Amino acid sequence: MFNSETQILIVDDMLTMRKLVKKACKTLGFNNFIEAVDGQDAYQKLQEAPIPVQLIISDWNMPNCSGLDFLKRVRADGRYKELPFVLLTAEAEMHQVKAAVEAGVSNYVIKPFTPDGLRQKLEQTYVKHAGANAA
Ligand SMILES: [Mg+2]
Repeated sequence: MFNSETQILIVDDMLTMRKLVKKACKTLGFNNFIEAVDGQDAYQKLQEAPIPVQLIISDWNMPNCSGLDFLKRVRADGRYKELPFVLLTAEAEMHQVKAAVEAGVSNYVIKPFTPDGLRQKLEQTYVKHAGANAA
């Protein structure tokens, strides 16, 4: 599993949702967060982060730059090809998940979620990337 010092970039256009994700992450023992309001803001903060981001948890539906567009920008950037990227999706967006998989998403979480549901997804994500880095 990701260690508790993992730098997590939380991206959501809704403050309440960012708080909720952060709270769930805190419940799981994480302490280090950077927040962004859309994909554009997130891409900038990703590059400017004083300590490198190690995990992205991003909403899908956002103005300016959606989670999917942000994912594509991240994966197109050689520095972030292997960066764990988890998308938060609403049930209604499930049919679009294929596009996210094709764009290289690490995993996705369906809203609403519990801290335990998030833990499971993060564990899967960690294993997936640990495996990829070991190969
Ligand atoms: Mg949103």
